Amino acid sequence: MQKALIFSAPSGSGKTTVVNHLLKTMPETLAFSISVTTRKPRPNEEHGREYYFLSEEEFKSKLAEDAFVEHEMVYQGLYYGTLKTEVERLWAEGKCVLFDVDVKGGLNLKKQFGTKAKAIFLKPPSIEILMDRLTKRSTEVEHMLKERIAKAKEELSFEDQYDVVLVNDVLGETLKNAEALVKNFLDQ
Ligand code: 5GP
Repeated sequence: MQKALIFSAPSGSGKTTVVNHLLKTMPETLAFSISVTTRKPRPNEEHGREYYFLSEEEFKSKLAEDAFVEHEMVYQGLYYGTLKTEVERLWAEGKCVLFDVDVKGGLNLKKQFGTKAKAIFLKPPSIEILMDRLTKRSTEVEHMLKERIAKAKEELSFEDQYDVVLVNDVLGETLKNAEALVKNFLDQ
């Protein structure tokens, strides 16, 4: 059966760490859905690995072709979206597709995929810890950091709409819990 795992979390909740751990642990079963974004690549990112990095013009032409399963302007002037062809490609490989998307995008995907999908909300232990993690992340310039903190606060209010909430307190425990949860979903 075609299955999907949707991971959403406020920025700084450790979502990328959890997602990468799962992909490394279950490479035969899970595959990462590479999104399109109009933001610039970070120094260690590669086109076609973390994201497909497109210009705003290219993004808009994909939009006009109705190429996205979902898309959002996640930050001011920065677009992100999941391509239909990406999901189809990974399902054709017989994989369970793993999404790392923002909270609204995650709920949108869940609505479309229904019981095929498990929507997981990863939550920091507290807002103070979240802000501390975000501030220590050196890749963001000041105004982006402020925007990320504001968005993270707003996103925390959506947890009730997710199938599962995982609190990321002690990382080792979170990874074990995430693995158990995924295995259980795949066995269903
Ligand atoms: P970042 O710029 O830090 O890589 O990602 C910013 C946010 O955009 C994260 O919350 C990430 O999960 C989300 N995101 C990444 N790809 C997509 C996508 O295709 N759709 C939506 N709605 N959000 C995305």
